[in-house]
Amino acid sequence: MSLDFITEPTRHVPVIHHTDVLVVGSGPGGLAAALAAARAGVQVCMVERFGCYGGNITVVGVEGLAWYRHEATIEANGIGREFEDRAKAMGAAVPESQSLSYELDSEGFKLVADRLVEDAGIHGMMHRTFVAPVMEGDRIAGIIVESKAGREAILAKVVIDATGDADVAVRCGAPAPKTPSEHMQAASVMFHLAGVNKAEFMAEVKADPQTYKDWSTGEWTVETDGKEDDMFSPFLKKPFAKAIEEGIIPKHLTTIAGTWGAMHDTGELTYMNLVHLAGIDGTDPDSMTRGEVEGRKQAMLAIEALRHFMPGCKGVRLRNFGMTIGIRDTRKIDAIYNMTEADVRHQGRFEDTIGIYPEFIDGYGILIIPTTGRYMHIPYRSMLPKGIKGLLVAGRAIGGDMVAHAATRNMACCAVAGQGAGVAAAQAVKSNCDVDMVDMDAVQRELIRQGVRIQ
Ligand SMILES: Cc1cc2nc3c(=O)[nH]c(=O)nc-3n(C[C@H](O)[C@H](O)[C@H](O)COP(=O)(O)OP(=O)(O)OC[C@H]3O[C@@H](n4cnc5c(N)ncnc54)[C@H](O)[C@@H]3O)c2cc1C
Repeated sequence: MSLDFITEPTRHVPVIHHTDVLVVGSGPGGLAAALAAARAGVQVCMVERFGCYGGNITVVGVEGLAWYRHEATIEANGIGREFEDRAKAMGAAVPESQSLSYELDSEGFKLVADRLVEDAGIHGMMHRTFVAPVMEGDRIAGIIVESKAGREAILAKVVIDATGDADVAVRCGAPAPKTPSEHMQAASVMFHLAGVNKAEFMAEVKADPQTYKDWSTGEWTVETDGKEDDMFSPFLKKPFAKAIEEGIIPKHLTTIAGTWGAMHDTGELTYMNLVHLAGIDGTDPDSMTRGEVEGRKQAMLAIEALRHFMPGCKGVRLRNFGMTIGIRDTRKIDAIYNMTEADVRHQGRFEDTIGIYPEFIDGYGILIIPTTGRYMHIPYRSMLPKGIKGLLVAGRAIGGDMVAHAATRNMACCAVAGQGAGVAAAQAVKSNCDVDMVDMDAVQRELIRQGVRIQ
């Protein structure tokens, strides 16, 4: 035995469940995939490593699902819109501060997701982490999970990888390169506040309104179309700059700045997206450990600065952190078709469209808000990993270049991809064919029946 490695003994692993479609991960991509497949009439199982569904919405606290929406914005609707409408109906959403959308309540959305999963008859399995695929040659036939119950297998006809990090695809041996660390989008420790005086806070926001142009001051430069420059943004930077001047925040922490989401009547100020940690790799637990600890320290410095320098925040206190660090950017599959910068900037059109997404580009130093009605198609082939049968990838790990991902990583787009993947997986099961051979007309007809705009 080498000093650096051990060899695990071969194990007999119990098969605990069989299903038609198995979705791994329950974020906007996975949840939409599971709902779409179940509504298309096949058996669905959804595996999630944490104790709630919703992915970044519920475990990180990302509440801005459609903050891009303005009067002329054209969207796919479908399950992404349903997330918002159901949350509103269940008292788990409030008007968002910069758009015509509703901001989700990250706690309340746990209940919304539970209800959606139950109503659709999905077999939900929380507290199980995917660790390995079950392969038959180059076909995935199921997965192995680890939990308090030990190691278990779940077998399926089609698997949808919605882990965000392409965990399943990578373990199957599919190519899924990671963004080089120097280009990786920053990770964030998100938090929510209580004890804000709403009247004083909003009076200050109105007295000194910030715009998307203000994102470019100091640490970052953000390319816009120009039309964004005078639009209101719930951006906070000035209190942190003052805190640096006064020695409350160390001089090097010029990256503390960003947006708030909603100011509630109860005095809660939620979706505080103020901490940005460069170089944190979401596939490396040591790196994430460093990010969690450093991120919480920076969040507390930000709160101290708000207490001193933001009207309405004198009595503010931390309500909660997200239960895990927020990771924006890791691996993306090399798909049969990888979306390009040109597709997202110039209204890409595809015959195998599974839904549209407005021209909303946010990331890698670009911010374009869809105020003009422009939109792109999302092609089915961007979810087909090369070389592996029986597998689809939905959510933020679909195939595309960096600028394409600045659009497709957004949660409503992850839901578009998820719904397309779910319907296609169900179609493959029903017609007993491979996912790369599905009848696209049938997939598109079912998506339209489910209320998705595909053209
Ligand atoms: C701080 C931050 C702010 C953001 N702000 C916005 C915003 O304002 N608007 C917007 O639209 N987007 C925003 N994003 C981007 C967006 O949240 C993500 O790109 C999106 O949630 C990705 O969806 P997903 O379904 O692919 O993955 P996720 O939401 O990451 O969900 C993946 C799910 O899979 C589970 N999982 C992972 N690995 C395993 C495993 N091995 N076994 C079992 N389960 C597993 C996870 O627990 C999780 O529930 C933000 C992201 C971050 C981090």
